[in-house]
Amino acid sequence: MEYIVRVVEVFFHGDLAFSVRFRRPGSFSFLPGQFVFVTTGSGTDAMTKPLSLSSSPTDPWLEVTKGSTGHPFSEALRGLKSGDEVTIKGPLGHFTFQGEFPRVAFIAGGIGITPLWSMIGNAIAMQSDTDITLLYSAKTEAEFLFREKMSDFEKARLPLRIVMTLTEPGPGWTGQAGRINRTLIEQEIPDWQERIFFVSGPPVMVNAMLAILREMGLPQDHIRYEDLTGY
Ligand SMILES: Cc1cc2nc3c(=O)[nH]c(=O)nc-3n(C[C@H](O)[C@H](O)[C@H](O)COP(=O)(O)OP(=O)(O)OC[C@H]3O[C@@H](n4cnc5c(N)ncnc54)[C@H](O)[C@@H]3O)c2cc1C
Repeated sequence: MEYIVRVVEVFFHGDLAFSVRFRRPGSFSFLPGQFVFVTTGSGTDAMTKPLSLSSSPTDPWLEVTKGSTGHPFSEALRGLKSGDEVTIKGPLGHFTFQGEFPRVAFIAGGIGITPLWSMIGNAIAMQSDTDITLLYSAKTEAEFLFREKMSDFEKARLPLRIVMTLTEPGPGWTGQAGRINRTLIEQEIPDWQERIFFVSGPPVMVNAMLAILREMGLPQDHIRYEDLTGY
């Protein structure tokens, strides 16, 4: 389905990413983790790209979160103002989770956090008792999106654990450092064999994670993934 939606707000996560919130059409329903095609401009200026919904289906608005690349589509989206209209098409995709499994592991690389955030937001709103461990990797601390929400999530007292690792840690960083590898997965998720894994990130990162999980012997039906093709 195609919808023309009105922008409510654009907000920035430093210089590295931004979120656009749209008024949600009454008939628009989606599953946590799905994506939409967003079209900015019209005629020969029209540009369309797939973006995951970073909001939860339980939110009254729709939200997408885009890495700032400085490229034309990114700039057009970033420059939207409250009241502007864009076309979205969807929802699409099968990378979804709404509490079907008692224990899950989420692995996010950079901007790949977006669909997982929708799933986590939904789990919190539904007071789900699914046990979630999120391994979240970024280059620098500034690249951790939605960090301000994390303490709210921790306060929600759900079985949700977040482990962040930086590939380019600054001097004040006391958390994990380096890419997500087999050692980190086994150390932080000792019961990994009993979890369903959801992996999301740029294709290179997703392929690396899939190779590790397969090498660990995790069966294919324990692995779901979304690669944000385009990065
Ligand atoms: C299912 C799905 C969900 C997605 N969800 C999200 C999401 O939630 N958030 C998000 O930000 N993205 C998401 N993406 C990716 C998104 O669709 C875009 O591809 C991505 O955001 C980059 O778009 P862009 O226009 O900003 O950059 P582009 O102009 O497409 O550039 C992308 C990359 O290619 C490089 N590049 C571009 N042109 C050249 C060139 N001529 N030479 C060398 N390098 C070049 C750029 O440096 C950049 O790193 C998703 C993709 C899929 C398939």
